[in-house]
Order: sequence, then C-alpha cells, then structure tokens
Amino acid sequence: MSLTQRMLDSAKAKADSKANARENITIAGAGPVGTLLAVILARHGHPVKLYESRPDSRIKSIYQGKSINIALSDRGWLALEAIGLDKVVKQQAIAMQKRVMHAVDGTITEQAYGTESQAIWSVSRAGINEQLLDLAEQEPLVEVKFDQRLVDVDFNNASASFMHEQNIEKVSADLLFGADGAYSKVRRLAQETPRFSYNQSYMPQSYIELHIPANEDGSFKMAKNALHIWPRKKFMLIALPNPDGSFTCTLFLDFQGEVSFASLTERADVEQFFETHFADAMPLLENPIDEFMEKTANPLFLVKVDPWAINEKVALIGDAAHAMVPFYGQGMNCGFEDCRELGQLIAEHHHDWSKIFPAYQAQRKINADAITELAKRNFVEMSELSGQASFLLQKKIEAEFHKRHPELWTPLYSMVTFSPHLPYSQALAIGDIQQEIIQQIMQIPNIESCWQDDFVYQKLLQLVHAVFNDKQKNLSINKQQQGQSHD
Ligand SMILES: Cc1cc2nc3c(=O)[nH]c(=O)nc-3n(C[C@H](O)[C@H](O)[C@H](O)COP(=O)(O)OP(=O)(O)OC[C@H]3O[C@@H](n4cnc5c(N)ncnc54)[C@H](O)[C@@H]3O)c2cc1C
Repeated sequence: MSLTQRMLDSAKAKADSKANARENITIAGAGPVGTLLAVILARHGHPVKLYESRPDSRIKSIYQGKSINIALSDRGWLALEAIGLDKVVKQQAIAMQKRVMHAVDGTITEQAYGTESQAIWSVSRAGINEQLLDLAEQEPLVEVKFDQRLVDVDFNNASASFMHEQNIEKVSADLLFGADGAYSKVRRLAQETPRFSYNQSYMPQSYIELHIPANEDGSFKMAKNALHIWPRKKFMLIALPNPDGSFTCTLFLDFQGEVSFASLTERADVEQFFETHFADAMPLLENPIDEFMEKTANPLFLVKVDPWAINEKVALIGDAAHAMVPFYGQGMNCGFEDCRELGQLIAEHHHDWSKIFPAYQAQRKINADAITELAKRNFVEMSELSGQASFLLQKKIEAEFHKRHPELWTPLYSMVTFSPHLPYSQALAIGDIQQEIIQQIMQIPNIESCWQDDFVYQKLLQLVHAVFNDKQKNLSINKQQQGQSHD
C-alpha cells in the first residue's frame, strides 16, 4: 500500500471515529415529549441523560389517582409507531369516533370526526408518560434521573445545573434540550440571551377537572366511544372516557367576568350555575359543587418563541417551545411530531448539528405556530358552533364532498387530525380557503333541505376549480414576474 493511500485511510478512519463519537445530550424534563426524545436520540447513537424535577410516578403517586386523559391522534401515533410503542399504548386507549353534544335541554346530537374507520383516542397522560419511561430505561444509552430540577443553563457550552434535595450538580454535555413543559425554566433562562423573542398570551378561560364515575358494574354512564361536549358558548364542559368506565371532565370557564371562576364564589351560586347550564350532567358528575369550590382554576396560555435553538447548543421542544391551548387536542401530538421530525433530520444531516438545528427550527416553528392558531380558534367551534344545526350541516356537506372527491377536499379537522404527513401550516392555509368556499354553499336557499342534491356538489366542484385556476394563474404570473426580474 502506498504512503499516500495509507495517509488517506488514516484520515478517513479519524473522520469516521469522530463521526461515531456521538454528542452527549442532556434533556431537562421527562414528560411525554422529553422521554420520547430520549428514546429517539439514543437510537441514533447519542448518550442521553434525562433529568426530571418530579419523583418517579411509577414508584411514588404524584397524580392522586386522577391524571388527566388526552386525545392522541394520528400525528402522535406515527411517532409512537416509529419507536415501536404504538401497540402497547393502544391496549389502554379508547377510540372516540365522534363528538356527542349535550344541549341545555338535554337533547343529544352527534358528529363523526372523520370516516367510519377514523378516531381520536383517549389515553391517560400519566399512563403514556410511564410507558415511554419504561421504554427509555430499556435503552442502553439513556440514563433517567428523578427529583432533579434544572436551575441554570450555560448557553455557550450546554452545561446545566440540577438541584437534588439541597445539592446542586453541574452537568456537562455537548447539547441540551429543554423539554420542561409550558412553564419551561430553560425557556425562561433563554429570555436572558441576546435576540430571544418571547410572546405569551392568556386566554380568557381557565379550567378545572371534574369526574363522572363508572356505574356500579363498571359500565359507562354515557356513550363510551365518544368525546362528550356540553357547549354553552362562553363556556363548556367536556368528558373523555377512561378504561375503568369513568370519564374525566374538564370545565372551561372565563377566569373573570359576569359568569366566571372569579364571580362564582358562593356555594348557592355555583349550585345554580350547574343546575341551569348542566342539568343533564348533574346526576352523572361526582360532587361537582364541592370540586368547583375546592379547586383552583388552571390558566390557559399560548407561548411563541424565536429562536428554538440557541448557539447550536441548546434547543427547546414540546410545550417548552410552543405551549398552546387544548382545544384541538394537539399539544402532545405536536410535541411528538417535533421529536419524530428531529429524528429524521439527524439522519438526513448525518448528525451535523450545525445543519440540524436550523432545519429543525425552519421546519417546526411554522407548523407549531399554525396549530397554536388553529387551537385558539377551535374554542369557538367546540363551545358554540358544535351546538348549532347549521354548523353540523356544513360538516355533513364537507364529509359528503370529501367522499365524492377525496383528492379535492379534506375537511380541516381531518387535515389536522388524520393527515399526519400534511404540515399543520398547510392545513391552516387550505382550511381558510375551504372555509370561504363552503360559506358560499351555505348561502344556497333552503340548503337544509337540498343539501343532498347533486347540484350542491356540482356548485362546490365549480367553486373549487375556480380557486384552483386562480391559483394556477397567480403562480404563472409570479413565474413571469420572476423571469422578468431576472432579465
Ligand atoms: C387541560 C389540557 C388538556 C389537554 N389535552 C390534550 C389533548 O387532548 N391532546 C394533546 O395532544 N395534548 C393535550 N394537552 C397538551 C399536552 O398535555 C401537552 O402538550 C403535553 O403534556 C406536553 O408534553 P411535554 O413533555 O412537552 O411537557 P409536560 O407534559 O409539561 O412535561 C414537562 C416535564 O418537565 C418537568 N419539568 C418542569 N420543569 C423542570 C425543571 N426545571 N427541571 C427538570 N424537569 C422539569 C415536568 O415535571 C414534566 O414532567 C392538554 C393540555 C391541557 C392543559
């Protein structure tokens, strides 16, 4: 072998060994997102230390037996499938194929979420977190530490300080991820770094959780495979099923104002509030008045930040990067999508973090902003529109048109919930265009009686084609203009 060849081989070996020495990564926060991230990073060969401020919930009860349940949908399932956890999670999950709306007079209406085979799934947030922790601990490259609160970060070198009991330990690493949730400490510390933009806004509503127990024989008191809503315009109650036959309910109500958590302080007023607005739920709920009087309402807020990655050393993920309101049931799903797409970027950019971080920010922020906006808008859909006949009719027409022309029209809810490869930002943009079109259809005289007639769908088709042609025209005008400016 020539000297030149040997030198080339040695340089290649050095480069290979450098490439194989994967960066050590610290993750702050072993919630669902931080734990999923740990598994994904470890499977890409990165040694991961995962620090959680709370005790291990599998050993010490921290939820007082009442962890909330949340809706897992296709984006979340795709991420779980990628790490092989979907089947385990599905064993405890309950399919919800429809919304069931409970009117003030007790009348019940239903709306399917998608096609017959589509559903969102009620899962326990604590349960899925624990299943992820079990999996993370099986990864040889993951070390999980509980009772360790992140208290400081050095954004220049990704080292972080964690407090355990009264001791502070400084942990060095090559990279740090803040997966420490909506109240993220990493994000708060990042606000002290140069050029970090931060925007937080509160929603008028706050929430408390209530409970509908199972019947004595363990059966459900209402339809099991549904998400139940009591839409009351300015406020609403929702209920998701649990495997033990109970439902976890959430009451969303203004924090302050005429009818609000702040105004309802007297027991008699609270009783009257429930009797007036939720009479049909009263026989089902367990001690709603006591619960209302005793509980402190939790606020709802949205957070947007920029950048998501600082100095190519520290990045935010999950709620730490994009806290949103829960009205689209997408917060955790979006966080899981962050992790899955980050994993793809690691492979695509061959562990070159100077490329991964900018790509991660470019790909994820626009989509997190979009779902944050959609989630905010969806309060009106859930609390007000879902109780209106015209809105339910609009949804039926959209579903029928989708059945006839699946390539031309997918309802917004399905784009967000059942189209995991469609970016949220595109769902938002397409949804806005579709909304304008469907509003024209809803203006057809007597649409309530003729909505199944063919001419309605012919007109819808024409409107869709007209928009499509306009778009093509705009595109070619833009192309021409670009061509001219290059001349
Ligand atoms: C009422 C309600 C209903 C919701 N419904 C849905 C739904 O139907 N579908 C859906 O997809 N999403 C839903 N969400 C949102 C979902 O709960 C969150 O998006 C999800 O929990 C985010 O996961 P995370 O791991 O990013 O953050 P978290 O779940 O908040 O986890 C963060 C972890 O970091 C730890 N931590 C915090 N600070 C520190 C620190 N300083 N050091 C170390 N560790 C720390 C915390 O203890 C926690 O374990 C809902 C949220 C609410 C409030």
